[in-house]
Amino acid sequence: MSTEKAFHICVLPGDGIGVEVTAAAAAVLEATQTYSGGFALTLEHHVAGAGAYRETGIAMSDEAWRAAEDADAIFLGAMGLPDIRFDDGTEIAPQLDLRFKFNLYAGVRPVSAKRGGARMLSDPRAENIDFVLVRESTEGLFASRGKGEVLGDREARDTMVITRQTSERLFAFAFDQARRRKTSSHCNKVTLVDKSNVFVSMAFFRKVFDEVAGTNPEIDAERVYIDACALDFIRRPWDFDVVVTENMFGDILSDLAAGLVGGMGFAPSADIGDERAVFQPAHGSAPDIVGSGRANPTAAILSAAMMLDWLGHRHGVSQCLDAAKLIDKAVEEVFFDGQVRTYDMGGTSSTADLTDAVIEKIKGSQGK
Ligand code: NAD
Repeated sequence: MSTEKAFHICVLPGDGIGVEVTAAAAAVLEATQTYSGGFALTLEHHVAGAGAYRETGIAMSDEAWRAAEDADAIFLGAMGLPDIRFDDGTEIAPQLDLRFKFNLYAGVRPVSAKRGGARMLSDPRAENIDFVLVRESTEGLFASRGKGEVLGDREARDTMVITRQTSERLFAFAFDQARRRKTSSHCNKVTLVDKSNVFVSMAFFRKVFDEVAGTNPEIDAERVYIDACALDFIRRPWDFDVVVTENMFGDILSDLAAGLVGGMGFAPSADIGDERAVFQPAHGSAPDIVGSGRANPTAAILSAAMMLDWLGHRHGVSQCLDAAKLIDKAVEEVFFDGQVRTYDMGGTSSTADLTDAVIEKIKGSQGK
């Protein structure tokens, strides 16, 4: 009898290059389970996103919602197309609904220079950029989504919401991340990014942070304002370990951070709650390059590795943890070899070229 642990994954490729990079990640996952063993993944694909809304008037069907709810994990490509909007002018974004509905409060965005992306900073210390941005993903300014008001075509309002319950969970998660990273050469620190010099909501955010920091005395706690942080991401990004912030600030800072290590094609992410999690590259549907073979699937492939790591920890399956490391290592080696250079690196390697190279590394690692 097989002792393999079986996991059911709800796959939502979404729109634009979301479909292309999801296919790449799925191929890598398939190779990984074949060559690593000890677990079995069933990938069940569902249609959702702006394209689905255009075709059917529904962005995500009840069937897709049920599949997402029942799955062990959710993998998402990217959703949204700038030309497809609701009447209020906002975009179709089921990826945000998933975060709200499943209470996925911790948006985890690792930022690492190890993956080979073109580096934006000439300072040699940029080689050491390696931090995790934890973006609160269910409230903050995004709590106003669908609730904003336009008053008589004269004035518009959106409201920031910060709750104690979510903030406590978010900060506990951030300190836990720092603890997990302690074994390596990291500086072991959590940096809060806020705007508590101006907004009462942000002063409250900081107050809760200070309380949680007080219960984690073995980990350094640092506080910076969002504007100063934007400068520090350029001036001293290698000094950060875990950075935790509000939803909107995290949305912006994560793209800036991705830019430091090669761009959106190198930015994996996970939206994690207490019960469920969605794994997806941090980028969007990139309509400017869809169908050209130029999409870099690295972020999606690394997001798949994050999914295996999360499943492994959650269910105590060491083979999943090993498989996650196998993918990380394969990606690193492909870029280290230098034979594959994607378009966003200034090269001419296609989505398929990079995917095949990663799969070859995974195959080659068997028996090593
Ligand atoms: P985007 O991330 O799609 O693209 C920004 C830039 O990065 C573009 O130049 C694009 O070509 C490039 N890029 C992105 N991913 C890449 C990859 N894997 N390889 C190479 N280059 C890559 O952001 P945008 O243009 O602002 O948004 C396009 C659509 O995606 C919008 O509808 C937006 O709402 C949506 N969006 C969705 C998500 C999500 O699903 N989580 C995130 C951001 C944007």
